[in-house]
Formats: sequence, structure tokens, C-alpha cells
Amino acid sequence: MNERRYVHYLRELFALVLLLFKLFIPASKSKILSIYFHNPSPKLFERIINYLIDNNYTIISLKQFNDIIDNKQLNEKIAVITIDDGWQNNLQLLEIVRKYKVFITIFVTTSAIEQGNFWWEYVGIGKNQNKASIKREIIRIKKLNAKAFYFEISNLKSDITIDRSVLTREELIKLSKNPFVTIGSHTVSHISLSNKSFEVKKNELLDSKNTLEMWTGQRIIYFSYPFGDYTEELNKLAKECGYKLCFTCETSNLYSNRIDRYSIPRRCVNDNAGFFEALSKIHGIWYKIKELPWVHTN
Ligand SMILES: [Zn+2]
Repeated sequence: MNERRYVHYLRELFALVLLLFKLFIPASKSKILSIYFHNPSPKLFERIINYLIDNNYTIISLKQFNDIIDNKQLNEKIAVITIDDGWQNNLQLLEIVRKYKVFITIFVTTSAIEQGNFWWEYVGIGKNQNKASIKREIIRIKKLNAKAFYFEISNLKSDITIDRSVLTREELIKLSKNPFVTIGSHTVSHISLSNKSFEVKKNELLDSKNTLEMWTGQRIIYFSYPFGDYTEELNKLAKECGYKLCFTCETSNLYSNRIDRYSIPRRCVNDNAGFFEALSKIHGIWYKIKELPWVHTN
């Protein structure tokens, strides 16, 4: 068995133990699951949809979610599914979405749609770096000030051609017309916004919104913070820019009577997760264990 398979089964076993352990803990009273993906396989995505439906969750659109926040009342179990970045492979999920009649929102990065790839895909190409050093390099670039960030990402892309991984503009326009799909913004350049100037924040929030509105002919009122990085100032600014709901990567429980529209938690299902790992993440159990000081997982 190669190392990757071995780690996969270990994570699955760990998650299964967590799920079994959960049987002995009183369940959370939250009826809302907020789940997000990036570039999942259709197989994993369908298993999660099946699980949610089998467990009586109604998978709603962000418009319906917005109404629930307004009314502060909820009688049924609901799930909100969002997908970050705008990967071209997300198109493979459309058949599943149609089959089960469930709603998804895709948050897209406008410059990546125009250029074909995300900036971090270029990091390490042709440099013979291992996975850990590529990860360190991505974190370094993420922390740069805006001027250095824009400079480095445009430099990264020069002289390198890689296959397109992001939706094309035409695909996005078609997607926006799908009744089960909502399009939201994920900035222009997938920059970490929290430590940037007011001007940069405003440009990234507004320019992406305006571009998407021009392309789709729809109002763009939903946003997800790149890397989940947000601040109070950013929440306020997002509101001023006309966004109605903004999503973070916080993993806390959601209760319909106290949702902050500009910092809505979500639990990530990573692309390579096994089914048990995904379930333990959806229900927040995996993250609780991760918070313990003696546990180190990625
Ligand atoms: Zn992202």
C-alpha cells in the first residue's frame, strides 16, 4: 500500500472513531449545516448529497437562507452548500445537482476566470520543490503587502503555460442561468484581504462584483472571503459594497436566531476526504478534536 493510501485509511479510521464517539455525546441543537467544497470528485459530492437527503436535510439556496435569517425561525433541518474558487471540474457536479434538485452557490475569482488558473497553481513549477516547501511559499506570498503580492503573482505566471483549471467566462455565464446554481464573488485575485489597505479591500470586493454583474446580468450579493480571512472592517465594507451574505471558514454551529450575515461559518469538506472524514467535518467533530493541544492533523 503506498503512503497516500495508508494515510487516507488512517484518517478514515480516525474519523470513524470520532463519529462513533459522537453517539455518546448529546447532539448539537443546530438544525443548519453550512458546508463548503473546492474541487470535489462527483463521487464524494454525490455521497454527501445522498447522506444529507437520507438524514432529512433540505438543501436550500442562499436566497432561501437569507429569508430564514430574516425570519429567525426554522422548523426543518437545512443544509447550505457553497463551493469556492470556480474550478472547471465543478461542471461535473451539475448532473448531480439536477438529479437531486438541490441548490449550490459557486464563489468565483474573476481574474482566474479571465486567465485560466489560480496564482498558487504556478508556485513551485519547474523548481523541483517538495510539497512542504510549496506550501510554505504559498503562505509567504499570501502574507505579502498588496503591491508585492500583485507583483509576485504576475511574475509567477510569466513564461509558464499550464492547462486551464478554472471555468471559462462562457461556462460561468451558462452556469449563472442554471436554476440550481447561484454565482457569488471570491474577489478579483484571490488575495488574503484581512491585512490589506482599505483601498485594496474595496477594489477587490467591488471590482469582482461589478465584473460578475456585467458578465451574468445578475445582481451579485453573496461573497466568500479568500482563505476565510476577515475582519470587522471588512464585514462593514462588504455591506457597504452591496453584499448581503458573506461566508468565512469558521467552523462553529449555526442557529437561525443569531446569524451574523457578514461572517457566516462553514465547514470544509476537503477534496481528498474519505466519506467518514467528510461526515466528521460536516458535523464539526473533526475540528473539535483538532483544537485539542495534543492533536496535530492537517
Ligand atoms: Zn478560495
